[in-house]
Amino acid sequence: MIGIYGGTFDPIHFGHLRSALEVAEQLSLSKVLMVLSAQPPHRDTPQVSIQHRWQMLQLALSGQTRLLADDREMLRDGPSYTYDTLSSVRKEHGDAPLCLILGGDVFAGLATWHRWQELLDLAHIVVMRRAGEAVKWDSQIKQYYAKAATGEQSELSSAPAGAIYELDVTPLHISATSIRQSLLAGREARYLIPDSVLMYIEQNKLYQRAPSSGRGQALGV
Ligand code: ATP
Repeated sequence: MIGIYGGTFDPIHFGHLRSALEVAEQLSLSKVLMVLSAQPPHRDTPQVSIQHRWQMLQLALSGQTRLLADDREMLRDGPSYTYDTLSSVRKEHGDAPLCLILGGDVFAGLATWHRWQELLDLAHIVVMRRAGEAVKWDSQIKQYYAKAATGEQSELSSAPAGAIYELDVTPLHISATSIRQSLLAGREARYLIPDSVLMYIEQNKLYQRAPSSGRGQALGV
């Protein structure tokens, strides 16, 4: 069983890494593809370039055998639709069970995604629950969840796609937004991100300036 964990990773932090590892362990995933969202369609343009984010992701995952940096969205033109990413992973892995791993906050906004109703044709969805995180699902998402939800892990491994499973991960209240804000204010980001990533940020003087006017331009869904 293979996990797909997408993100803008602007920058990658221990919240991403720890939760990906915990999901991998709890579900006995053979690997988790950490897919860098090159041109996220449903959110602001990332603050630093795709090349910097890719370097940071690779540094954070260096020496890991279970969490793998995945560049397939960088190699495609246009908006980085998860539907296209899952189709491409599906082509590579035949009928293997695939698990799209999302935070509860991201799952709440799923109905704005390209071909979201068809995502379950391609993969299961694993929703990470973080104790203390207040996430509201609207009625459309609640319905979508109720139709496919399972409490049985074995239903994930016995089918290639189609189920939604919620799973608890250690709540680490870290976000890339708060890291960017800390760095901009000249505060330390140590102990929130891997040292290798911190060093890269320092060497390349990233996140020292307020976001340019480019940030904030959504690309449309
Ligand atoms: P930003 O603050 O820029 O929105 P982020 O820290 O939320 O960034 P993303 O790259 O947008 O990170 O998130 C990718 C995925 O990681 C999402 O599924 C999100 O729910 C999950 N995620 C982000 N932060 C954490 C965390 N602290 N613990 C567990 N999962 C997280």
